[in-house]
Amino acid sequence: MPDPQCATEIVTIPCLTDNYAFALHLRDTGQTLIVDVPEAAPIIAECARRDWSITDVLLTHHHWDHVDGLPDLRAAVNGPLTVWGAAADSHRLPPLDRALAQGDVVQIGALRGTVLDVSGHTIGHIAVHFPQAGVVFTADSLMALGCGRLFEGTPEQMWDSLSKLAALPKDTLVCSGHEYTQSNARFALTLDPENAALRARAARIDAARAKGMPTVPSPLGLELDTNPFLRAGDPELKARLGLQGASDAECFAEIRRRKDHF
Ligand code: ZN
Ligand code: FE
Repeated sequence: MPDPQCATEIVTIPCLTDNYAFALHLRDTGQTLIVDVPEAAPIIAECARRDWSITDVLLTHHHWDHVDGLPDLRAAVNGPLTVWGAAADSHRLPPLDRALAQGDVVQIGALRGTVLDVSGHTIGHIAVHFPQAGVVFTADSLMALGCGRLFEGTPEQMWDSLSKLAALPKDTLVCSGHEYTQSNARFALTLDPENAALRARAARIDAARAKGMPTVPSPLGLELDTNPFLRAGDPELKARLGLQGASDAECFAEIRRRKDHF
């Protein structure tokens, strides 16, 4: 539940072609956390417009489209900047001030976030859940109606990572790293055409995209009902894929394989 004692504001910032960065602002201290830096200019402009000073950066994983804007951002920030990222990835991330592992806490003022190792897309990808703000930053692990491609991890690792995220409170807003939702919806409908919640969501996504509006973030409860990668444990979905008796991770692996060839 959002905590009224720790008032925050969150804004989604489109970057590059289809990336998202996020700004999480603490009203009482004025601190602002930026999550991922695909490029600096849109982030600097959005924070300047709101008169928010950037104090912290969280890097979710090492891919260039999540980190390459950091030097330009640092050059534009007056004052100290604390960079948080995965200890396991410190050899291929920009220099970190705070190196994080599963279970560690990201503390910014009174705001506390818990680190989840969500390896799969890469090994060392982290997500951070801020329960007081009701948000989780998932980048290329759990995405709106999708999940990241398995560049480094196994399907078992990604299923384990998604299972951690699926256990968070259902009203948590999932802040993921890309606007891939419309094509994810087309794929999801091929697996789950009878799912009324999915069909309704796909229609809303088409309407939002027609107006150029972002479909990220999305509530976790909606992902649990409609995202096929989170529904890999569903017996009906397994049956539809001809995978009766398969493990949840095996069903997840088959869904991921189909998506790779979609
Ligand atoms: Zn990535
Ligand atoms: Fe990415």
